[in-house]
Formats: sequence, structure tokens, C-alpha cells
Amino acid sequence: MTQAVCILGVTGSIGQSTLKVLARHPDQYSVYAVSAYSRLDELVEICKKYNPKIVVVPKIKALELEQRLNQENLKNIEILTDEAGLIAIAERDAVDIVMAAIVGAAGLLPTLAAVKAGKRVLLANKEALVMSGDIMMQAARDHNALLLPVDSEHNAIFQSLPHNYLQIERTGEPQLGVSQVLLTASGGPFLNHSLEQLYDVTPQQACKHPNWSMGQKISVDSATLMNKGLELIEACHLFSISEHFVTVVVHPQSIIHSMVQYVDGSTLAQMGNPDMCTPIAHALAWPQRLKTDVPALNLFETVQLNFQAPDNIKFPALSLARQAMRAGGLAPTILNAANEIAVAAFLKGQIRFTEITQVVEHTLQAVQNAKAESIDIILQTDMIARGIAEKYIVGIGG
Ligand code: NAD
Ligand code: MG
Repeated sequence: MTQAVCILGVTGSIGQSTLKVLARHPDQYSVYAVSAYSRLDELVEICKKYNPKIVVVPKIKALELEQRLNQENLKNIEILTDEAGLIAIAERDAVDIVMAAIVGAAGLLPTLAAVKAGKRVLLANKEALVMSGDIMMQAARDHNALLLPVDSEHNAIFQSLPHNYLQIERTGEPQLGVSQVLLTASGGPFLNHSLEQLYDVTPQQACKHPNWSMGQKISVDSATLMNKGLELIEACHLFSISEHFVTVVVHPQSIIHSMVQYVDGSTLAQMGNPDMCTPIAHALAWPQRLKTDVPALNLFETVQLNFQAPDNIKFPALSLARQAMRAGGLAPTILNAANEIAVAAFLKGQIRFTEITQVVEHTLQAVQNAKAESIDIILQTDMIARGIAEKYIVGIGG
């Protein structure tokens, strides 16, 4: 029997890497359901190759997809639409494993649905956890879901923690002899830029990451270091620790993917060539291991491993995320919403790179924080924060 996999966001960078890992192990996994927001050409190719039972697309694309699948003689594929369709495939009984690889807040409800259905959930969609951390983690415990980190740093931390760490009681303090989590950051494409140079960088430059090939939004987040800020919040929730137990370490080579320090002076690191197939394979099969095409690390070719502290003046996003995590409640939702709007505006050429964090800072100050009591409140606050961020962008001439 193969395990049935649902891939939310199959046409994205993580979605494609997931297919690559699955294609190597057809005896163990089958692609049961997939979703895509755009790129119908790629979606049709995926359907031809993997023959999923269900595909989810936005309603406005459904008719075109149906015609295209008919032309390919793929008449048995069920087409569902919009958020209801995403939720339906995430919680479908026949599905064993859900890869949550939609980008941004759009992935929140489908990811939560998978968790509430008690699935093995491979979490790439960090924004969903940033927005709903306590609710998502509680739902995982209540419904016996296995929420496994795909983000390379969190996967590395998970691999370096004691094996039963995800099951421990949540206190905010590290347990089982752990003293600190060292979250590594490549520093992005502008690590060595001056503040003046950052003022003029273009979306194209921001999307050219030195070590990883990723979707546009996370590429810009990596360039501002907001990605590390979101990951800091993600780590606090996944591993149940307060933010002061997470130290960010800039490591430009992206060979060490993160580390865990213990009270006895040990530091454990997970290393490997930067390729998302490794953490995806790990989360798919854990506690087993799966073969991938990622070449083993050749230490004789690895020139150097460097480490430095992040520059909080050039890259204020990390401090903003830390503040938001410390404030708790809806602050991470506000931070994330403003960032999504600001990154989209930067990609459209409406604001400067350095204005992204200004939008986030303004929105965090302007929107009232409160307890994140329910998903409805989180989604409402997300909408309000987006509105305020958009207004601020218009105000600064964007
Ligand atoms: P991407 O932009 O390449 O792909 C995003 C996917 O989400 C696509 O399939 C797209 O069709 C779908 N999508 C976009 N907007 C949608 C919407 N409104 N409704 C439904 N579906 C929508 O992004 P990516 O780089 O694959 O990243 C996906 C997630 O994984 C992000 O949360 C990112 O932070 C996280 N992540 C990515 C990497 C990486 O290496 N790419 C690493 C770690 C974590
Ligand atoms: Mg990461």
C-alpha cells in the first residue's frame, strides 16, 4: 500500500521539489490531490505525469483546466475550487500526508484543516504558523496530527533535538538538556550591501538568492531578513520556547542548516548541500530515511564555514519580528499581513526595498494588538492590517 499525499501549492518551488522526492519512491507514495493558483500549463503536465485523483484551482480557472485535461484524455480527475476545495483535499479521509506549500496567509485554513484531520502535515507554509501559532499547535495535539517542519532550519533543529522533543510539555523553556537554538541565516543577497546601496536594489536583484532557488515572496523575505524573523516565530511555536532562547547566526554558505546547544556544552548541527529535497524527504519519511538525488556533502570541497551576528540596523525586520513575538497575541499576524502587502508592492515597483520594513513597523504600531483567541479574530486582524499597510503605501507615494 502506498501512502496518499496531498500537495497544497504543487506548482511552487516546494511543490516541485516534493514531486521530485515522491517520483523516486512510487512504491511508497502516490500523489492523491494537488492544488495550484496559476500556471495551468505546469499543472496539466503534473496531472499527465502523476495522475492525481483531485485537483484544486481558483474557480475562474476551472473550466479551462477541465478542457485541457479532457484534451489530454484525463477525464477521471475531479476538479474542486477555491478555499473550500483546498480544505476538502487537506482533510480528505483517503489522504495520509499533506504538504502545506502554499505561500502566505492563503494557506492558513487548509493547513489547519489538515492538522484538525490528524494528518501527517509537512509544514513549509510558515506564514500559517506565524499567524495562528498557539491555535495550530494546540490543534495538532488535540487531533494527534504530526506537524513536521520542512523549512530547512526547523528541520535541522528538529533533527538536532532529542527525538521525542515534539511531544514534550509546553513551558516556553527548553527541555531535555537543551539550552539554546541557533537559527542560521544565509544573510541573503544583500548581506554586504551598505544602507545606501539597499535603497536602490531592484526586485530582480532581491529575488536572486545566493544559495537557494525559491518563490519570489520568500526570496524577498530572505533579502530583508524578514524570512528569519518569521522563522524565529515559527521556531518558538514548533519547539515551544520563548524568543530569547533562539539566537540568529548569519552563516553565508548555508551548509549548516541550524544548530541546537545543550547544557553540557554540546552543539549539534545538521549539515548538507542546500537543497529542499533533503528536509522534504526527512519530513515525509520520519523516523525513516528516504533516498534523494541530493549529493552528499563533500567536506574537502566545502571551502569555509563562516558565522557572524545579524546587522539589525541594515536589516530591521528581524528585530520587528522579535518584538512581535514578545508582544504575542495578534502581533505576529499583523507583522505577517503587513509584510505580505509590502513585499507585493515592492515586487510591483511601488515601494523601495528599504520601505518594506517601514510598512511593517507602521502597521504594527497602527493596529491594536489583542489576544489571538480564535481563527476568526486572526483572519479579521489580517484583513485590517492589510488595509492599513496598503493605505500607508499610498501615503508614501507607492
Ligand atoms: P512559490 O511562490 O514558488 O509557490 C507557491 C504555491 O502556492 C504555488 O503553487 C501557488 O500556485 C500557490 N499559491 C499562491 N498563492 C495562492 C493563493 N492565494 N491560494 C492558493 N494557492 C496559492 O513559493 P515557495 O517558494 O514554494 O514557498 C511556499 C511556502 O514554503 C512559503 O510559505 C515559503 O515561505 C515556504 N518555504 C519555501 C522554501 C523554498 O525553498 N522555496 C523554503 C522554506 C519554506
Ligand atoms: Mg528557511
